[in-house]
Amino acid sequence: MQHEKVVIIGSGPAGLTAALYTARANLSPVVLAGPQLGGQVSITYEVENYPGFPEGLEGPQLVEHFQKQAERFGARIEYDYAQDVDFTHGSPFTIKTERTTYEADVVIITTGANARKLNIPGENEYVGRGVSYCATCDGFFFRGKDVVVVGGGDSALEEGLFLTRFATSVKIIHRRDSLRAGPVLQQRVKANDKVSFVWDSVVDEVVGSGSTEGVKVTNVKTGQSDTIPAQGVFIFIGHDPNSEIFKGQLDMDEHGYVVTDRLMSTSVEGVFAAGEIQDPVFRQVASSVGQGCSAAMSAIRWLEERETAPSAVAAS
Ligand code: NAP
Repeated sequence: MQHEKVVIIGSGPAGLTAALYTARANLSPVVLAGPQLGGQVSITYEVENYPGFPEGLEGPQLVEHFQKQAERFGARIEYDYAQDVDFTHGSPFTIKTERTTYEADVVIITTGANARKLNIPGENEYVGRGVSYCATCDGFFFRGKDVVVVGGGDSALEEGLFLTRFATSVKIIHRRDSLRAGPVLQQRVKANDKVSFVWDSVVDEVVGSGSTEGVKVTNVKTGQSDTIPAQGVFIFIGHDPNSEIFKGQLDMDEHGYVVTDRLMSTSVEGVFAAGEIQDPVFRQVASSVGQGCSAAMSAIRWLEERETAPSAVAAS
């Protein structure tokens, strides 16, 4: 059992920011990097909306900056991931990883969420070359292009509307003939001349040669297949928070997002969460960085208060 003051589970922008702040408080945090150091940003071609980089930069470069800055102050990044946790007895908490078991005074959870995939031919192949799961990140690259959006929820419509700022046309492909999105958003989308709908249709394949050229779709009512030309394919069929190992130990909403208060504290005292694991709304590098900073500051304060509490003083 390895004892640590702070263990951060996850290494996206929220996790690496929490690492920077707790490292600068001399807490020497351990970051469990998980399956991919940097999380979703590390597979983002270009990030143009993170402040401080007027020319934008590639996702992996930004992750490298985050990592170096955190390590400079003593954060330790372990290429390992949490398999099981025990928060039931309070601090210190137990975290079993692939390689070892940690005992941590404070835990900061930043395991993020993953965009759901269609799992169709061409989808993985064209990620970053036409296929995207983030209009805010990639919409700008589709100025003057035709794009399709897959999904019928709030995200699909909201991101579809955002894409009309750049794209010549936005076709929303939905598997049913009625939308899940809220009525106000539906009205706004339907009033936009650039948007049209392809109803009752599923996407079977992303096609192209080197970059995306279109999607093959099938109408589920008529069985008719078609190819829709498009240079961009934006998929918004929901996100899944990576909260499986915390189920039953932390309060979550009905979609599995960890519930936090304003101080980024979870339902267990001494366990904090930041980034997309607790944020189904903003999902930006900038917002995750802010939340990671807040969680770290709360964690630092929590440790300080515990150490100066009368019982701790009496025991020392
Ligand atoms: P969502 O509400 O779960 O909608 C997902 C959409 O994708 C649904 O229309 C669903 O179709 C479709 N879909 C799911 N799996 C599919 C598949 N395999 N193939 C084709 N289509 C598929 O997800 P979301 O839009 O990301 O929203 C998530 C939550 O965040 C919701 O509670 C939403 O209200 C909230 N949100 C709110 C705002 C806002 O308030 N401004 C913005 C974004 C998100 P069906 O309809 O047939 O199930």
